[in-house]
Amino acid sequence: MARCSYCGASESMPFTCKFCGGKFCGEHRLPENHECQGLAVYKETRGKEPENWIYEPFRAEVPEERSRVQEVVSRLSLRHALYALLAVLLIAMLLRTLL
Ligand SMILES: [Zn+2]
Ligand SMILES: [Zn+2]
Repeated sequence: MARCSYCGASESMPFTCKFCGGKFCGEHRLPENHECQGLAVYKETRGKEPENWIYEPFRAEVPEERSRVQEVVSRLSLRHALYALLAVLLIAMLLRTLL
């Protein structure tokens, strides 16, 4: 058993954040959902990488203003949409260089 470093909920299978190394519950495992310190450092070191503008829109939000569940759902779907868009762009760029 371990406890979520963000909300303190006990977790039998905690998620480890790859950015800050903390242990989190399912709800707070994403860097955006536990105000990840490691992610901030990661972003600074990688300044102009595409990750930057994927994460950017979500950091300005104040988590307490909306219901947790609603926020997690909207963030997940937004992120997936952005990843899909990024994938399409990458494929388009690849095709242009190959043809
Ligand atoms: Zn938690
Ligand atoms: Zn983290």
